[in-house]
Amino acid sequence: MAFPKTTKGQGIFLKRPIDIFMKKALFIDRDGVVNVDKVHVHTIDQFEFTPGIFDLCRKYLEAEYLIIIITNQAGIAKGYYNENDFRVLMDWVIREFEIKGIKIDNVYHCPHHPEFTGPCTCRKPEPGMIIRAIGDFDLQIEECVLIGDKQSDLEAGRRAGIPPRNMLLLKGSPAESLECLPGL
Ligand SMILES: [Mg+2]
Ligand SMILES: [Zn+2]
Repeated sequence: MAFPKTTKGQGIFLKRPIDIFMKKALFIDRDGVVNVDKVHVHTIDQFEFTPGIFDLCRKYLEAEYLIIIITNQAGIAKGYYNENDFRVLMDWVIREFEIKGIKIDNVYHCPHHPEFTGPCTCRKPEPGMIIRAIGDFDLQIEECVLIGDKQSDLEAGRRAGIPPRNMLLLKGSPAESLECLPGL
């Protein structure tokens, strides 16, 4: 049986056979979508889930979307925290989702910042993280949905080929958008 490729070493993977048939994904930004953006959040103490994020993800899970977090983490380039800090925090975040019955399929992060590490192809608005996910999960990009809190999130989605109708710029918390989610 051919299971989809996964990205080595990132997050926690609990692949289910049903994943073979799931070819669409919800891409969500982290800071400002999953958690309240407090700038360079890197500890569990600082991590405050946004109201409605679990309900939002559950709706997409029930509609058979993979759920993938894509996040710029320039704090790593700037030396505010390191890769291990990020990994420890995200392992905890993924477990919190699991406790709520929601499987996060992968987390992609960009640890770069142009002023510290030079240009890269993954920092949003570059589409590199989404393009990697398309390959890793064999996604139909025109079926994918992206939810972000900045224009740079949507620009990354646009460059990767996600249709504009499938993208949502959050104005408040996810709870305020539950009635108008794209793709559902
Ligand atoms: Mg954000
Ligand atoms: Zn990068």
